[in-house]
Amino acid sequence: MPDDGCVFCAIARGRSEASVVFEDEWVIAFMDLMPVTPGHLLVIPKAHAEGLEDLREDVGVRVWTVAHRLGRALRLSGLRCEGVNLFLADGEAAFQEVFHVHLHVFPRFKGDPFRIEADWQVRERHLLDETAAAVRGGITALGAAGGSGPRT
Ligand SMILES: [Zn+2]
Repeated sequence: MPDDGCVFCAIARGRSEASVVFEDEWVIAFMDLMPVTPGHLLVIPKAHAEGLEDLREDVGVRVWTVAHRLGRALRLSGLRCEGVNLFLADGEAAFQEVFHVHLHVFPRFKGDPFRIEADWQVRERHLLDETAAAVRGGITALGAAGGSGPRT
């Protein structure tokens, strides 16, 4: 369902200006207004979905497929591109700022301004196993409503 206050829905419906690089029935991809690096793209579903919880899995697959292709296209674009990041923020705590799902695709190169600060440490196996059990519990909790996720 479209959200009348959503800036990305406005772009998806052609009611707001955007520099579009790709569009099909399901998704649209355009330049981020505040690019981390030149070539920074956003791929969004045309149908409003606030986050992963209400994004249809088949549409999510299409978003990924287009982002994959655009990541490859960036390397052939002539823009400076020594690497590519795909980045999705789901929820305010994850720094989501526009609440219409969007997958960032942007070129990376040595010395670019993008940073992720984190406490990268190798964790002990028993801690990883405990965390894995919690995630498996979440998968079970998805149940039949979890859709057609990966088979184990
Ligand atoms: Zn929207």
